Amino acid sequence: MKFELPPLPFSPEALEPVISAKTISFHHGKHHQAYVNNLNNLIPGTRFENSTLEEIILDAEGGIFNNGAQVWNHTFYWEGLGGKGSTPTGKLLQLINEEFESFERFKEIFADIAVKQFGSGWAWLVLDANGKLAITSTSNAGNPMREGMTPLFTCDVWEHAYYLDFQNRRPDYVKAFWDIVNWEKVAERLG
Ligand code: MN
Repeated sequence: MKFELPPLPFSPEALEPVISAKTISFHHGKHHQAYVNNLNNLIPGTRFENSTLEEIILDAEGGIFNNGAQVWNHTFYWEGLGGKGSTPTGKLLQLINEEFESFERFKEIFADIAVKQFGSGWAWLVLDANGKLAITSTSNAGNPMREGMTPLFTCDVWEHAYYLDFQNRRPDYVKAFWDIVNWEKVAERLG
C-alpha cells in the first residue's frame, strides 16, 4: 500500500489570522508530506505492506509507528479545523457540560493539558475506553487509539504547528485555536 498526502480540506489561507498560510505551507506541504514519504520508504519488506494507518498505529513500533501515526494525526488535525468561531451544540455540548461543567471550563482544562505537554506532542478530546469524554495528551507521535480511546479532535502542539505565527507562545496558539475548530466535524465523529 502506498500512502499519499491527503489534500487540505480548506484553502491555505482559511485559518488566518490564527494559523498563517505560510505555516500551512510548511506544516502540510513539508512536515506532513515528509511523514508520508518516510512511511512509504520504511514499509517495503515489512509485515505492514498491506496495513492501514490504523493497523500501523495499533501494531507498529519505531519508525513505522512514528511516521504512520504522524500521517494519521495530521490528517485528523486538518479535518478538525476550518470552523469560523463556531461552538459545540446538541449532544456534544450536553456531554461537554456533563463532563466539564461548561464549554468555558472545558477549554481551560484542554488548554492547560495542551500547554503542559512537555516538548512535542498532541492534545486530544477523546471518548475514553468507557465511552466518556476525556482530555488527554500524547508525546511525539503518540495516538490515544493505542490506549483504546476514540479521538474526537486534536491540537498539534509540536513547535512546527505554531512557531512561525506565535514563536514560543504555545498558550497564545492554544487560546486562538478555538476560533478555528470545526465543531460540526467533531460532532460527526461523536456520531
Ligand atoms: Mn505537526
